[in-house]
Amino acid sequence: MTTTRTPRMDYDEALDRFEPVLGLETHVELGTASKMFCGCPTAFGAPPNTQVCPTCLAFPGSLPVANAKAIESTIRIGLALNCSIAEWCRFARKNYFYPDMPKNYQISQYDEPLCYDGHLDIEVDGKTVRIEIERVHLEEDTGKSTHMGGATGRIHGADYSIVDYNRAGIPLVEIVTKPIPGTDRLAPEVARAYVTELREIMRSLGVSDVRMEEGSLRCDVNVSLMPRGSSEWGTRTETKNVNSLRSVERAVRSEIERQAAILAEGGRIVQETRHFHEDTGTTTSGRSKEEAQDYRYFPEPDLLPIAPDPAWVAELKATLPELPSVRRKRLQAEWGLSDKDMEAMHNADAIDLVEATVAAGAPAADARKWWMGELARRANESGTALAGLPITPAQIARVTELVASGELNDKLAREVLEGVLAGEGSPDEVVEKRGLKIVNDEGELSAIVDQVIADNADAADKVRSGKIAAAGALVGGVMRASRGKADAARARAMILEKLGASE
Ligand SMILES: [Zn+2]
Repeated sequence: MTTTRTPRMDYDEALDRFEPVLGLETHVELGTASKMFCGCPTAFGAPPNTQVCPTCLAFPGSLPVANAKAIESTIRIGLALNCSIAEWCRFARKNYFYPDMPKNYQISQYDEPLCYDGHLDIEVDGKTVRIEIERVHLEEDTGKSTHMGGATGRIHGADYSIVDYNRAGIPLVEIVTKPIPGTDRLAPEVARAYVTELREIMRSLGVSDVRMEEGSLRCDVNVSLMPRGSSEWGTRTETKNVNSLRSVERAVRSEIERQAAILAEGGRIVQETRHFHEDTGTTTSGRSKEEAQDYRYFPEPDLLPIAPDPAWVAELKATLPELPSVRRKRLQAEWGLSDKDMEAMHNADAIDLVEATVAAGAPAADARKWWMGELARRANESGTALAGLPITPAQIARVTELVASGELNDKLAREVLEGVLAGEGSPDEVVEKRGLKIVNDEGELSAIVDQVIADNADAADKVRSGKIAAAGALVGGVMRASRGKADAARARAMILEKLGASE
């Protein structure tokens, strides 16, 4: 296969000349026990084609029955996204051929979505950006094709393909934004922040495990450019199934750079779907994009319309959990943090960890200091997420307790954390094994101070004659002699007392 090099324009130059317009379509697999239109289980990772039945394999004569829990979950998602809920709507058949779709059509929703006209506010770079939600609708997932024998894992060049229908018929919610203009240079960050916030909302609602790496949350990223000063939107491309937060951000950036280069040379953007490649951070052409009429939608004749009782919808609304943005505001107030600190913690995925550390007894400022400082540094070094570090919030709380009681200072505390991360046991065990306790024994400290005074007669004389500043050198000597385990303030007081000086 030959590839032509894709021209790209430097990101900053592209943004000097063009304005991006985004659109995001996010698919969320619901975590219901059974599929959307049959009783098959939905667990991830089962052997291929073991979670199937005549209905989800589309045998003639089989009939679908809608999953009530999936409808409830979709309405709850719509309510969390400030949508109106349809009082009456229908499923629709979306007709297209795809080998991993046994019916040769997908049951979806077309012009009558269950939820519509909502919005989600996100915070990016200290600013609130409102993302308008066009619709939230319910459909079924397809099966999964695997292409064998080729170098790329794609159908082109493969020897043969195999298909697993376990996923066919799993309830899928599609959340579609209205076009998002005005994000300017922050377009990649806005896209990422939006998907991050959606993921947190799904988690707080408990409707999906939202594991992007397992495909239970995936995103189609639409990008178009228009010349600065123009009000006419350009042709958009749709990058399909982007499956990590970082890739969402990179896909937007990559499409901006690619489209800008084409437009600057007088070229034309083709309306098409594209694939994102994790290894290069770029997209390549997929298929030209169908228009809605190509799908020949019509109302699904095998299913009753959905007509949720308004009283039930009101009850669902009243029983929504505290949403992530509300929770963050509450925690920020409780912890007394600035917007900037809170956003940094959010971006670092540290809020849950800090909250758990506070719940385990640590002051918020200390919990934040360790997670955002020493532990963030170590996570960064080892290329893991904070939550993936082999240390628990309770262990951090114990370290802050040891510092507060004067048994450890900051330097020793860092050594304790290092020991815990290295698998040497609990904080108390590491203190014991490494001998890290501060010298609290007055007799022991007194002996060290005497020795340091004897070894530094000049400095000691200066302190005796009233040059208190010289005491610093003696304190430094005590810290060295104790290998950092002395309490510096206590040592200083003792030095001054022994030399008959005072502050
Ligand atoms: Zn089934």
